[in-house]
Order: sequence, then structure tokens, then C-alpha cells
Amino acid sequence: MFVFFIMKIYPFAFINLFSSAFYVAFLIFSKDKRSSEMSTVAAYFEILIFALLSETISRNTYGFIFFVLGMIPVIFFLAPSCGNKRFVFQGAGIVTAILIDQMQHLIPESYFKQTYTELSIHVQHFRFINLLITLFTILYVTIFYKLEVDMMRSELDYQCTHDPLTGLYNRRFLYDEVKKAADNNISVVLLDIDNFKKINDRFGHDEGDAILVRVSECLKEEANGADIYAVRWGGEEFILYYNCFEKDKAYERISSLCRNITVNAVLPDKNGVTVTAGLAHGKVSDFDELVKTADTYLYKGKANGKNCIVWEENEAQYSA
Ligand code: GH3
Ligand code: MG
Ligand code: MG
Repeated sequence: MFVFFIMKIYPFAFINLFSSAFYVAFLIFSKDKRSSEMSTVAAYFEILIFALLSETISRNTYGFIFFVLGMIPVIFFLAPSCGNKRFVFQGAGIVTAILIDQMQHLIPESYFKQTYTELSIHVQHFRFINLLITLFTILYVTIFYKLEVDMMRSELDYQCTHDPLTGLYNRRFLYDEVKKAADNNISVVLLDIDNFKKINDRFGHDEGDAILVRVSECLKEEANGADIYAVRWGGEEFILYYNCFEKDKAYERISSLCRNITVNAVLPDKNGVTVTAGLAHGKVSDFDELVKTADTYLYKGKANGKNCIVWEENEAQYSA
């Protein structure tokens, strides 16, 4: 605006004065995300009108058409909540670009002759500046677009592979890991909180949830994300997955984990929560079978007083 005033190119100065007023309003009103998006749409149409007027006056020489061409794809990223309406916005952009291009044939040469003559001295510079502004806008929006897509993708990845209450991995994650893994020896531990229904009934569902979270914290401490994974398998059932572990070592670790749970997951009556676990050992390719075996061991533990770990070494004792 100031540049055009100094250069005494008043039609351009006035167009830019209106634009500046518009952007001041834009800054004032775009407080939250929704109003900021609506202001962006308004800014888009302002740019179309601005470019159409400016190019009409400069007889399509100043390169304001670049703004229109740049904004046609960019509006898709800037106004996501406008949904399919964005195609209408694009349509308006396309019509504007065509109008600008055909303007010199539509408007007689005698129109804006004086201004056009004044402007023609600076054509090269302004055209170049306008091209640069448009290219940087596209680059800038593309970088933001990429950042946002990356953020959404990692959020989506997290939601697909984690349990929302406890933050532990979910079944889908474990099945994916099992599919990818080499056929190593693994230990699968199915772990179930004892008398959890009673905990819920006695202390309420919220306290039940809090206990699930506390037990999960213990499991997270045990898991290392490399060869030990902790998974929420169902309501109050968890799986610990030990990749490339000897079964004795897995048993040792799970014994100390169960003690840890009882110490750290304490009920309002000061009693520690107990768990029963079934441990099965075998090849990754037999994962489903191993889960079934661990479940059978777990069932035996539940039927024989709970608060224990059942595996092939002590299974006979529990069957009795
Ligand atoms: P057992 O010792 O034999 O395992 O008995 P249990 O009471 O622990 O097991 P049961 O299968 O009878 O009950 C499990 C309860 O867990 C029933 C269900 O309402 C509760 N539950 C499942 N998911 C959640 C959850 O996300 N939050 C809470 N608070 N409770 C849950
Ligand atoms: Mg239970
Ligand atoms: Mg259960």
C-alpha cells in the first residue's frame, strides 16, 4: 500500500488499503480454530478479488494471477472443516484465473490506460516479487501440511496399537509383531487379576480402573519395547511376551513381576492385588497354540486358589 502511494499508482494503493483493512479484521476475528478457518476462507476470496482487480488494471502483466494459481490447491489444506465446499472454492479460483487470463480481450485497451502506462515501467520487478511470494506460500503451506499429516499419522498409529485406558499395547500390535518376528523361542504369559469383579463391586468401577492402571504401570516397567512386550489382552487380562527367552528366565521375571504388582497395586483397604498367570513356552509360529496353553494353565491356577504362576514344571501339581 505504502509503496504504491509513494509511486503515485493510486488504484493499486487503494486496492491494497482495502486488503490491509481486511487483514486487520482477519487478525482480530480469527481467535479460535473455527473462526480462523472462516477468516482464511474469506481471505481466499479476498485474494481472488484482489488479483482480479489488480490484473484488470495492469492488463494481466503484474503476476497477481500467481496468487490465484497458488491458492487453488492451498485452500484444501487451509479449510479442512469446510469439506466438499472446498471444491466450490476451487471452482471460484479456476473461474477467476480464467477471467484474469482473458481480461485483456474482454476489456478495451483504452481502459486504465494511464495507470497501465505508469505500471508498465515496474512490471518485471513486481511480477517477480509476486511469483516469489506465491512460491514461498506454497512451500510454507506444504511444510505445515507435512507436519500435520505426520502428527496425525503417529496419533493414529498410537491409537491403533495401544489400549486407551492403560496405555499398554493392544492385541492388534502383538499379532503384528508375531507376524513380523523370526521363528524364535518365546514365552507367552497370560496374566489375570484375581477377584477383579469383587474389587469393582466393593470399591466402584473407577477404583477398578485405577487398579488396572497401576497393574499396567508394573507391566510397563517389565516391558522394554525390544524383546519384552506388555499387552492388555482383554478386560483384566494381560499378556507378557518374551522373545528369545529361556523359559526359566521368563518364569523368574514373571515371579518378581507378580510380587511387584502385589506391592504396588494396593486397594483402599491396604490389601495388595494378586494375579494368576499361565506361562507357555514354544515357537513364535505356534503363538495361538501358546496362548491357548497359557490360558489352560491360568484356568488351573484359578481353580486351585489363585495368586500363582502355572507352567509346564508345576502343571501336574495344579491339575491335582
Ligand atoms: P477371577 O479371579 O477368577 O479372575 O475372577 P474375576 O472377578 O477377576 O473375573 P471375572 O471374569 O469374573 O470378572 C472380571 C471383571 O472385570 C468383570 C468386568 O466387569 C471387569 N472389567 C472388565 N474390563 C474392565 C475395565 O476396563 N474397568 C473396570 N473397572 N472393570 C472391568
Ligand atoms: Mg480376573
Ligand atoms: Mg478374566
